Amino acid sequence: MNRVLLISFIIVLISACALIPQQQAQAPTQPAVQSTPGMVAELATLVANTAEIDEVIVVTMPPADDFFFQNGITLPAPVCSGLTPPQMEGPYYTPDTPERNSFLEEGMTGTRLLLVGYVLDQNCQPLPNVWLDFWQAGADGEYDNEGYRLRGHQFTDSQGRYFLETVLPGLYSSRPIEHIHVKVRPEGGAEVTSQLYFPDQPVEGLTVTLEARGDYLIGYFNFVVQR
Ligand code: FE
Repeated sequence: MNRVLLISFIIVLISACALIPQQQAQAPTQPAVQSTPGMVAELATLVANTAEIDEVIVVTMPPADDFFFQNGITLPAPVCSGLTPPQMEGPYYTPDTPERNSFLEEGMTGTRLLLVGYVLDQNCQPLPNVWLDFWQAGADGEYDNEGYRLRGHQFTDSQGRYFLETVLPGLYSSRPIEHIHVKVRPEGGAEVTSQLYFPDQPVEGLTVTLEARGDYLIGYFNFVVQR
């Protein structure tokens, strides 16, 4: 009869590894230890070598400071159907934006939007360290063309993910459709300029999937770029 031992470890990869409380340790009589990937592998080998255990499954949890983990967001497995279509830059791009994942500022009005997703290559593989530069109008339909309000760049993380805390853009007279501008540049690949849209006025290949979460919206969108 097969017996499976399931070992769950939360590997905390923040600056210092977190201490495992004594009551959560495998052997309650042992002192609290620091968990490292090396120790997990060592313990897995040790357990696998015992006569009574046939299989060891090590479940690795995300680090505690992972934004997606903290916010209970699981990105759906990516599905790719061609490259993200390019669109015009428009007249309001400002270069040299600050690096940040949040455009939110004190007193900013509008419906809060958390934009999340992957940047993937042409083979649907996540790309880390991709430069993304977002810019948009505020809920009032106005761009900040003198400063950097609602403008900023960031890089995808080691799993090819990005996130942006912002607000839903408003309409402005010359563009009566809600949109967020973006530039995406993978390492060693060509830069793509495009725009994201919303389900009430969808644009093929560029429409964010929205999910209501309390008093804000989560917008899912994966970019697919040629590397
Ligand atoms: Fe625009």
